[in-house]
Order: sequence, then C-alpha cells, then structure tokens
Amino acid sequence: MDRCSNCVLSTSFPGLELDENGVCNFCRDESIVTTEQKIIDESAVQVQQLIEGTKGKNEYDALVCYSGGKDSTYTLMAAVEKYGMKILSFTLDNGYISPKAFENINKVVETLGVDHFTFKPSKTVFNKMITTSATEPVYAKSSLRRISSGCNTCISIVNNLALKTALEKNIPFILAGFTLGQIPANSIIYRNNYPFFLDSRKRGLEILKTKAGNAVNNYLTISEELQKKTVEYPYVINLLCMESLTENQIIEAITPLGWERPGDVDGCSSNCRLNTFNNIIHQKKFGYSPYELELSHLIRKNQLTREEALEKLLDQPREIYESIGKELGYLDN
Ligand SMILES: [Zn+2]
Repeated sequence: MDRCSNCVLSTSFPGLELDENGVCNFCRDESIVTTEQKIIDESAVQVQQLIEGTKGKNEYDALVCYSGGKDSTYTLMAAVEKYGMKILSFTLDNGYISPKAFENINKVVETLGVDHFTFKPSKTVFNKMITTSATEPVYAKSSLRRISSGCNTCISIVNNLALKTALEKNIPFILAGFTLGQIPANSIIYRNNYPFFLDSRKRGLEILKTKAGNAVNNYLTISEELQKKTVEYPYVINLLCMESLTENQIIEAITPLGWERPGDVDGCSSNCRLNTFNNIIHQKKFGYSPYELELSHLIRKNQLTREEALEKLLDQPREIYESIGKELGYLDN
C-alpha cells in the first residue's frame, strides 16, 4: 500500500500515518473540514463588506491574476458577474502557456469586457530561475508540501507583479484563483504586507540572484519609492474558496464564455505546460506529487472522486517533460 485508501496521499508525504485500514491521519481528523467551514463562512461576510465598502471609488475595484486556467477564469467571471466589480486582469506569460489557453484568455476577457495586459519576463532569466528552482534549495521544504518549487517561483512573480500594479494604480483588491487545499483556509483573505513577504523569501531570492543574475530583482521585489507611496496595502482574496464547486460545475459555468480545455497539458493543469516538468522534478525529489494535498482535500469534501484524482496524478506526459526540459536547458538536446 503506497497511498491512503481514502484520499491519494502517498506514504512518502511528510507526517503521513496510515491506520490498520490504510486510512491516513488527515482523513481521520474531521476537525480539518469543520474548522475550515467556520473560516469560510466568516471570510464570506468579511469579503462582502470589504467589497461593498470600496466599490466604485477607484479606477479599478480589483486586479485579477488571470492564468487562463479554469479556476482563475471562474474567479474573473465571479468578480464581474457576481460581485459587479470593475476589473483589470493580467497574465504572466512564462513562455510555456498552452496556445489554447491564450485563446481562452482572449475570448474570456473580451466576453466579460474587462481590461487586460500580459507580462512576459525575459526568457533567459525566467528559464534560469526555473532550472535553479529545480536544482537548488530555493524554498523551505515545508512550503513544498502543496506546491512544486518551479510553480512557487512563477507564483512569486505573479504575486509581486500584482502587488506592484495594485500599488501603482491604487487598486484595493487582488483576486487570485486558488482553491482550499492549494492554500490554507487562513489565506482566503489577507492583507498584503511587503516587508513580511520579502523577508519570508530572502534566502530564495539570494539563491535565484546568484544563478540568474540581478534581473531577478525586477520580478521579485518592488522599489522603496513605491512601498513608501502608500501604507494601505491591498487585500488578497481567493473568491473560489468560498464556493464548493466540483471541477465539472466550474467548467460548465465558464463554457458559455468560450473557455475550452487545452489538450496539450497534464491532468493537473488547465493552462500551463511547465507544470508537468515541475511535477516530475518534485515527484523524483520527494516521492510524492505536489498536487496530492489539494486533490485529497477535494476528495474529503466530496468535490472529486479518488479515481478522478488518481487519473489526474498519473496523467503526466513524459513527452511534455522532455520537450520542456530541453527548452529550459535542463535536459540535453
Ligand atoms: Zn487520507
């Protein structure tokens, strides 16, 4: 038995203990789900109040980090249609976004009528940051239980760009498309705090700079001038965490916007081909997939079956790993 018989956590997952029935300690602890529900309910009230209190006072009500995947597409749609917010959205083009995902992005922003921009970092610097994330201890091991090192780097760039843009344009909210399982319940809503943010990844930043050069500063830090501009940091809100939807319900909701699932990504992504590379590196290094915690959480909440989760975990095409690995310069051509 190499996994929990109820969820999909591997025996190599940190802190995992199986009982005589093969059920893990996470599945046996029912308080995880009940405590979470309490936080969800409180967050929903707080979010409603915050949004109503600021709506219409700025050029944009919120900035949406829009990857083109199903979850951030749903988030963008909810921001516009459910919360009635005026939105600026942006996409980080890491060079490995599926062409189909870009078609989705264009269709969705046009259908919803939102302003949108794409940011593409230097390919040389970005690739170096990703290969460094694959080979060096950029992040603390504990933070890699729910995300691969490479994804962590990409998301750090997104978070930094979001904060920079929100401060420059006085946007009070940053909306991201994370789901519970990807993030802990206490991160559904939080106020950005740049000094804390920077401090928490100081070590990683130094490693990335040593390997990829000082250009890394452009992507992972913001100027002192901009920090001084305001003490009012924007709130980060993960709207999708307050809904309990299955993947099929999410896809059904966004299909009328023109969204279609890309065919050239792995079972755990709906937009990014780099994901497969990051997953396989993580699996090799730690013996479990960075998606196990999230998918297991969804299983416990009856939003996904164990069979569906296993299918996603096992759908990691070797040919994507190899072609991306070569493009990154990580594998020999
Ligand atoms: Zn379990």
